Amino acid sequence: MNGQSNDTDQLSIPAKACRILARHGHNDFTLGHVSHRAEDGSGFWMKRNAIGLSEVRGDDDFVLMDFEGRKIRGAGNNHSEWPIHSEIYLARPDVKAVAHTHPFHGCVMSGLDEDLDPYTLAADYFAAVPRFHDDAALIQTRQQGHALAQALGPHFVVSMANHGVTSCGRSIEQMVCNAIFYEQACKAHLTGRASGRAASPIKPAVRQIRHSQVMTDSHISQTWAFLLREEARACEPK
Ligand SMILES: [Zn+2]
Repeated sequence: MNGQSNDTDQLSIPAKACRILARHGHNDFTLGHVSHRAEDGSGFWMKRNAIGLSEVRGDDDFVLMDFEGRKIRGAGNNHSEWPIHSEIYLARPDVKAVAHTHPFHGCVMSGLDEDLDPYTLAADYFAAVPRFHDDAALIQTRQQGHALAQALGPHFVVSMANHGVTSCGRSIEQMVCNAIFYEQACKAHLTGRASGRAASPIKPAVRQIRHSQVMTDSHISQTWAFLLREEARACEPK
């Protein structure tokens, strides 16, 4: 991996995922981490610590961790919140990618004890995202990670009270879209509430239809293709 190139074609997909998340509201200096499940079942590749999501350039910026928190491969150190990732992978065999981030609106929303109002399609879709409460600021033990995974349940996003958000996906692409769309949803909810006007209610049967029409595989793949083009344009020499 060429760590100096601006050519996005040289970036790995996990690196692009980090940079795309950073571009869409998930950057918080060097905080936040992204992982993807290792194909051989040995554990998961996790972004190394001490660099921001926007600074990730390639596979060299990830370390391979096992489910006990031991670093198997890679240079650099791992984030201390590795149990967020390990316990979700253990609890959810369908999940292939996880991101824990501090998006501004998602973080503010995590401090509110309320569901999202249906101001937009995304806000309606993510209305019932579960909320996880913990006494500690950081998830650094397997027990805490397990509790977070339990709170996540069958969902793909869990709000971490007064802290941040953890997003998952059956693929890296789906994880990125869930994370970005949830942040959009929180922004819509907070903006709508700040306007002082209530969102129009949606009947349960109508919601069911609407939900089946959003976050489809084709929407995810088209959004991902757009995000890759956008990242490539941003990296073009000026
Ligand atoms: Zn955090």
